[in-house]
Amino acid sequence: MENFEEIKNKALEIGFTRVFEMDVSTIVCREEVRADCARCRAYDTSWACPPGCGTIEECQERINKYSHGLLLQTTAELEDQFDVDSMMQAAADHGRNFAAFSDYIKSVYPGCMLIGTGGCHRCRKCTYPDEPCRFPDKLTHSMEANGMVVSDVCTANDVKYYYGPGTLTYVACVLID
Ligand code: SF4
Repeated sequence: MENFEEIKNKALEIGFTRVFEMDVSTIVCREEVRADCARCRAYDTSWACPPGCGTIEECQERINKYSHGLLLQTTAELEDQFDVDSMMQAAADHGRNFAAFSDYIKSVYPGCMLIGTGGCHRCRKCTYPDEPCRFPDKLTHSMEANGMVVSDVCTANDVKYYYGPGTLTYVACVLID
């Protein structure tokens, strides 16, 4: 990507810990990941999650249309493995980082695909299933809904996912034409 350094600097400025270029062809949408979706409270509640986001084949097809990708990580330091407050803070920080970055990257690449953690939270109440999505251009997909295994995507792009004891890392992606 020609302007990767500029985009990376913006993402770091927003608050992400690390930003990498990603090879979109490494993304494999796996049906078995969907089994976890069925147990999630977001299941069947929005256009960003199954079944509203389409079949796993449709997800793969949608992803394959993009040629560039970004991997964005937010890593938190925990006091110990029971430090729930820091875990929740890290999730909130990552969500806030991604929301801010989404607005920025959409202003540069309006057609890009946002893939975050845990589905779309753009509207207070999703229109699903009665009306079409209010903001199809800004809808945030979830990695799991697309059948993506986060650790596999990182490994396939030579990116670490685990940064040692006492750390917790959240990951998001953006796909660009
Ligand atoms: S943008 Fe709004 S209507 Fe569309 S999927 Fe997200 S929450 Fe639902």
